[in-house]
Amino acid sequence: MGENGSRVQDRNRKEKRLTSTFSGNMPQCPKCKEEIDYIQNVQSGLMTWKLTKDGEYEREDDFEEDDDTNDFRCPKCQFNIGLTEEDAVNFLNGQPYDLGEDLD
Ligand SMILES: [Zn+2]
Repeated sequence: MGENGSRVQDRNRKEKRLTSTFSGNMPQCPKCKEEIDYIQNVQSGLMTWKLTKDGEYEREDDFEEDDDTNDFRCPKCQFNIGLTEEDAVNFLNGQPYDLGEDLD
């Protein structure tokens, strides 16, 4: 997953390094404050299936990602926590990270 130009610009524009708040040994979502021990990665792209004469579907190809959506979200509230995979991992480990979207 390479960073394209617009993502790099987003990163430079935001410059909002946060450090996650921990409750016990799990970080808390900055939006809903729930404790989470993993982040959901949501990607957009194309999936190809084989449709047989019996009306059954089989996966044909590996998922082919595009660059429209590659979000790192809270599994409880879907808030976009990390701008990049590195940010998401940093969030989970209590290291400074960039938010993927603005907090209200
Ligand atoms: Zn959340």
